Formats: sequence, C-alpha cells, structure tokens
Amino acid sequence: MPIDATQPYDDQNIFAKILRGEIPSQRVYDDEFAIAFHDIAPQAPTHLLVIPKGAYVSWDDFAARGSDAEIAGFVRAVGTVARAAGLVEPGYRLLANVGQHGHQEVPHLHVHIFGGAPLGPMLA
Ligand code: C5P
Repeated sequence: MPIDATQPYDDQNIFAKILRGEIPSQRVYDDEFAIAFHDIAPQAPTHLLVIPKGAYVSWDDFAARGSDAEIAGFVRAVGTVARAAGLVEPGYRLLANVGQHGHQEVPHLHVHIFGGAPLGPMLA
C-alpha cells in the first residue's frame, strides 16, 4: 500500500531497520550520509536502492528538512553507487516515488537505480 508522504517518520520502517543492521540486506555502499543495497525484488538486471542515513520520509521531506551537507552527500552517493556498479556507460535510470500517487511503499526516502539493460521510455 502506498504511504502518505506527509506522515511523521516511523523509525520502525523496514529501511530504518536495514540502516540499523536489524534486518539483513545486500549492502553495496556505506558512507557518512547514505547506504545502498540491492532491491529484494529487482525490476532490472541491476536494481539498487540508495537511502540517506537521516530520518526522512520522502524526497519532499528531505528537500524541506535535509541540511545542505546531507543533500549534497546523498546526491554524490547516488552518483558514486551508479558509477561503481558500472552503469554510467551505457546509462541508467533514477527514480524516487513520493506518496500515494507516486506509489511509495516504504516511508524512508529511497532512490531506485535501474540499469544493466535498455530500459525503454518512461511510461508514466
Ligand atoms: O518506491 P517504493 O517504496 O515503491 O519501493 C520500495 C522498494 O523496496 C521495492 O522495490 C521493494 O522491492 C524494496 N524492498 C526491499 N527490501 C525490503 C522491502 C522492500 O528491497 N525488505
């Protein structure tokens, strides 16, 4: 079920638990601002999720409350993860679902990285 992006942060959400190491994940990256791990149900040959270490529900919440350092660190982490996965050439797709219409299911900001095959045009 998609979440309400304006809800308060719930520190029992599944990505908060992954961040704290309470639930296992296939982690590929970890720095001061972000971690990245393989999506449990990949929708492309490479499907990674990058999440900030801070407690932010959505892209909207992060844009409103994140510090400049956190935002810069997160954006750099997304780029670094994609580069390290060998996706820069021939390319990849970034996606951040927000709230009900965006069909965001996990209430901790995450950016999807899709790659490893031609992805076709965006459908929505
Ligand atoms: O953007 P949205 O919230 O819809 O995506 C959540 C993503 O988190 C899904 O792609 C799902 O497969 C992934 N997921 C995961 N590990 C979990 C729970 C969800 O990788 N334990």
